[in-house]
Amino acid sequence: MEREQIIRLARAKYVATGITNNITEALAMYLNNDATEDEKIPLFISSPEIYGIKEALKKNRPKCEECNSDLQMKENTRDFTGKKYATAWICKCGRIEYSDKTVKEWLEILRENRQQNI
Ligand SMILES: [Zn+2]
Repeated sequence: MEREQIIRLARAKYVATGITNNITEALAMYLNNDATEDEKIPLFISSPEIYGIKEALKKNRPKCEECNSDLQMKENTRDFTGKKYATAWICKCGRIEYSDKTVKEWLEILRENRQQNI
């Protein structure tokens, strides 16, 4: 699949629905949740950081404390008061944990497989 097509799908699923207004985040979420192996290739070529996160999350994805589901990373986000955070972990049950750690910092933590309280 072409990169443009994947961007359209990611936008439809994550931007149009209001989950994020950032296409980079939408792509990262699409990559984590929906992309097939074929779709990942054109995305990987253009985004080594997303590739790194994806690989790290495969090995050590944080789980939700409430429901034990896999958490999804969100970048450059705000809480309901408008306070900005570098990252957040979101769960399908609705739980959100905001963090000041950047994607790069999380990447290191996940790669080192450190125990980490989110
Ligand atoms: Zn949960």
